[in-house]
Amino acid sequence: MREQLEQLKNSALPAIQAATSEEQLQEIRVRLLGRKGELTALMKGLGLLTPEERPLVGQVVNRVRDELEAALAIALSEARLSAQTARLQSERVDVTLPGRRSTKGSKHPVTLIIEEVCEIFAGLGFSVAEGPEIEHDWYNFEALNFPPEHPARDMQDTFFVENDLLLRTHTSPVQIRTMLKQKPPLRIIAPGTVYRCDSDATHSPMFHQIEGLMVDTGISFADLKGILTVFTNQLFGQKTGVRLRPSFFPFTEPSAEVDIACVICGGKGCRVCKGSGWLEILGAGMVDPEVFRHVNYDAEDVSGFAFGMGIERIAMLKYGISDMRLLFENDVRFLRQF
Ligand SMILES: [Zn+2]
Repeated sequence: MREQLEQLKNSALPAIQAATSEEQLQEIRVRLLGRKGELTALMKGLGLLTPEERPLVGQVVNRVRDELEAALAIALSEARLSAQTARLQSERVDVTLPGRRSTKGSKHPVTLIIEEVCEIFAGLGFSVAEGPEIEHDWYNFEALNFPPEHPARDMQDTFFVENDLLLRTHTSPVQIRTMLKQKPPLRIIAPGTVYRCDSDATHSPMFHQIEGLMVDTGISFADLKGILTVFTNQLFGQKTGVRLRPSFFPFTEPSAEVDIACVICGGKGCRVCKGSGWLEILGAGMVDPEVFRHVNYDAEDVSGFAFGMGIERIAMLKYGISDMRLLFENDVRFLRQF
């Protein structure tokens, strides 16, 4: 039996050394040491030996097995190394090829305008406030002096979630939420997404607004015009003229539409401004005492102004975009330009 073991070893070792691939070595391992392997078969013969012979032959079996396993392990790591070397040589990297650039995204024009407007107002001492897009009727309408059945609600027809819950039609409810939490003086701007039942080239059912609110003692219409003039001059360039026209909003009294001198033609009149030389960019006014009453501010003590603008409208003017729907079609050829 010792002879058989020596013979097995002597024939196996050269086979292991001759093998060149991992697959060949695995085959040899199975043939020798597997469950039906040659060495395994010999080991089963140990049972037939006398009790004196058994430990002696057992030692030889263990030694042969260890030697074979060691030889297999060495050959295996050599085979792997040479396979790797061969692969590296055949797939050599050409360092002179131009690199592959990873595609970088860019900020959406709506985001760019929100950031720019927030930055300008931060410089004027305003802080950013936010509120939920699903809003209670009371915050969106009633506290802002749109009583139930008021015709002004028709201009802001929206999507109702259930009885009292709706998608906010403007960011103005953030005014109410802020005033209920804070006492004057306060200066906030509230950017965010709003919803209305409109859809055409200049209206989208989902769009963005930035609303501003300043409340303190002795705030007048002159402060409103001053702040908005500084703002529009910074946003569109130094010499943008500002014009206020009387208007109506339920939550401000008096109210005004704010126009700027047309940024396309400089006020001479063109297609964008429809020949008037002016562009309407936001609505504003002095906070209605009825709104202060809803948030427990004393209209005898404090006064304030509010203003709101559509971000898409500003983006279209600033970047010369002709159709609002381009902003939401997610065409990368369009978005890549910003
Ligand atoms: Zn014009």
